Amino acid sequence: MPLAEYRKKRRFTKTPEPKGSAPARRQTGGGRRLFVVQKHRATALHYDFRLEANGVLVSWAVPKGPSLDPSQKRLAMAVEDHPLDYARFEGTIPEGEYGGGTVMVWDIGTYELEDDEDFATAYKKGRLTFTLRGKKLKGTWSLIRTRGPRQWLLFKRTDRYASKAVDIIEEKPRSVLTRRLLADIARQGGGDVEKAATGDPR
Ligand code: MN
Repeated sequence: MPLAEYRKKRRFTKTPEPKGSAPARRQTGGGRRLFVVQKHRATALHYDFRLEANGVLVSWAVPKGPSLDPSQKRLAMAVEDHPLDYARFEGTIPEGEYGGGTVMVWDIGTYELEDDEDFATAYKKGRLTFTLRGKKLKGTWSLIRTRGPRQWLLFKRTDRYASKAVDIIEEKPRSVLTRRLLADIARQGGGDVEKAATGDPR
């Protein structure tokens, strides 16, 4: 029951989030699979980093978001798997519901594991290194588990896409699907606009 935890946390009569169809084999070809980063202003602002594997989106919550600076290793807490169709979910989760707040598709694209190792093996070892082909995030990245089953670090590997100068979070704050800021999404989705705006650059 790969999505049991995802479904248990949510009331689909209240939230517009996708219920998720049964995890399906989905071929993206050439070892490339979907990745998505969703900016989520819930109780606190964070970035949900998701990698497609075995028919679901394996997910981490990254409070500070990704950094292009390889010396900035960002805490990434493993959270429940999400359905594949979550990748294009952007909108408002009602206050009082799980994850209540505003969700933006901050980046989307494909990824490829660096080694020929399969995802499950690398995940079990707590060492995932992969190439991202997103609209904002590119090049080689790693997720390394540091403590317990849930605590990982997300960081950029040194390559031509690494940068100490560019703060990608500040410079590219908009949705890659709709160009909206969090406040725009909240306004159009009947959400808490002021709360959402605290996640947008001032
Ligand atoms: Mn979240």
